[in-house]
Amino acid sequence: MGKLLIVGTVAFDAIETPFGKTDKILGGAATFIGLAASQFNLKSAIVSVVGEDFPQEYLDLLSSKNIDITGLQVVKGGKTFFWSGKYHNDLNSRDTLSTELNVLADFEPLVPENFKDADVVMLGNLHPSTQLSVINQMEERPKLIVLDTMNFWMDHALDELMEVIKHIDVITINDEEARQLTGEYSLVKAAEKIQEMGPKFVVIKKGEHGALLFQGSKVFFAPALPLEEVFDPTGAGDTFAGGFTGYLAEYKNANFSSLKRAVIHGSNLASFCVEKFGTERMTNLDKEEVNNRLIQFRELTQFDIELQ
Ligand code: AMP
Repeated sequence: MGKLLIVGTVAFDAIETPFGKTDKILGGAATFIGLAASQFNLKSAIVSVVGEDFPQEYLDLLSSKNIDITGLQVVKGGKTFFWSGKYHNDLNSRDTLSTELNVLADFEPLVPENFKDADVVMLGNLHPSTQLSVINQMEERPKLIVLDTMNFWMDHALDELMEVIKHIDVITINDEEARQLTGEYSLVKAAEKIQEMGPKFVVIKKGEHGALLFQGSKVFFAPALPLEEVFDPTGAGDTFAGGFTGYLAEYKNANFSSLKRAVIHGSNLASFCVEKFGTERMTNLDKEEVNNRLIQFRELTQFDIELQ
């Protein structure tokens, strides 16, 4: 069984979409990654931090999905990271209303002993120095290091981000962020520039327009499944990352073909995430639903064509 180490926020989110509004609910990059990865046959652990205000019920939920939370620190008297955002009518773009780092501001990650030999490390959205510290704690170089980040860290910690990017194999990033990081409008050129910064593979996520995988001159595109119900896109990117790394940790192989399949698994799981607010859909998802949608994915993208 493969081992997946996940680093990222475990958070409270307050979300507003054209369809409704939530109070503080369970969120965070590591939460969504862990829930998505729990669909695979692997051992996973989350390294993160929460405050004393974080409900036991949420910790129990993560444990019930077989996610090891010994690396999830609970700070006495501390407040959990809080993020709130409001989506525009098209649901493709959002404004961050507030980001309160709280316990995350002084977070020093500690990788549990039994995960220092993880096959895959998923560095979810967090301060890049925290991401680097996790890499440095690994006993040996993991087979695959995947990093996700966002514009917030490009604005606040660009030098540190550029440093950690040198040490990774795959970056997952959205189109707007790829443009911000490279100053290139063309995503092909942006992917080329990012590969020069370190990672061998670049995944550019385009929300409801799917995802692109680049390695050198090779490109693969996976659409997002056209859905009847899109309720709340929060966590879709992280769920994608969880499906992507979950598959690779189980499969234990990282070449272009396996990464293509990983992109499909990531897109497939993300299609569920957006159907309900927050983590709700991902906590109630069974294998049969996941497999049925994989079949839909296959049908959506396969065609025969005769050359003239
Ligand atoms: P996504 O929609 O995939 O970009 O991820 C949304 C999740 O990221 C939410 O659950 C937030 O708690 C979390 N988040 C938002 N801003 C940050 C940040 N600056 N650093 C880390 N996690 C964040």
